[in-house]
Amino acid sequence: MIHSAIHKARPDVIAAAHSHSIYGRSFCTLGRTLDTITQDACSFHNDHVLYESFNGIVLAAEEGENIAKCLGNKKAALLQNHGLLTVGKTVEETVFWFVSMEKCCQAQLLADAAAGGRGGETKKIDEEDAVYTRKAIGSPMAGYFSAKPLFDVIHKETGGDYLQ
Ligand SMILES: [Zn+2]
Repeated sequence: MIHSAIHKARPDVIAAAHSHSIYGRSFCTLGRTLDTITQDACSFHNDHVLYESFNGIVLAAEEGENIAKCLGNKKAALLQNHGLLTVGKTVEETVFWFVSMEKCCQAQLLADAAAGGRGGETKKIDEEDAVYTRKAIGSPMAGYFSAKPLFDVIHKETGGDYLQ
């Protein structure tokens, strides 16, 4: 229901990745988007959304359409009380944004916990620097390129079995 609605709404998108990974789904309980606190998080600066309504397991066409509408033209969505969703112009790009967003969630959970324990807050990257960095590392080509080592490892470990 999610994937078909996204492909219908976003002809530019070749793939959508969605899973209930542990850090993503933990972060998605907080009801907020990612802070831009690391270089990697710059890829998602002003380029992801929070989908706030959770109406049970996504079996209704309407829920998928609402998620697609909320995603708009962005590369990722945090589905509240659910998990992560990323899209891209290639399978590689899509998978890289998913893996990267999962790690950004993990990093922010750690950083927020550490900062909170000291009674402070994390340092945020300036708007100008965040936008500049997103342009460099957050493009479809950068996502594709960044996924290459991961796919090379998968290919080596499986001997290409996954292509069958
Ligand atoms: Zn799901």
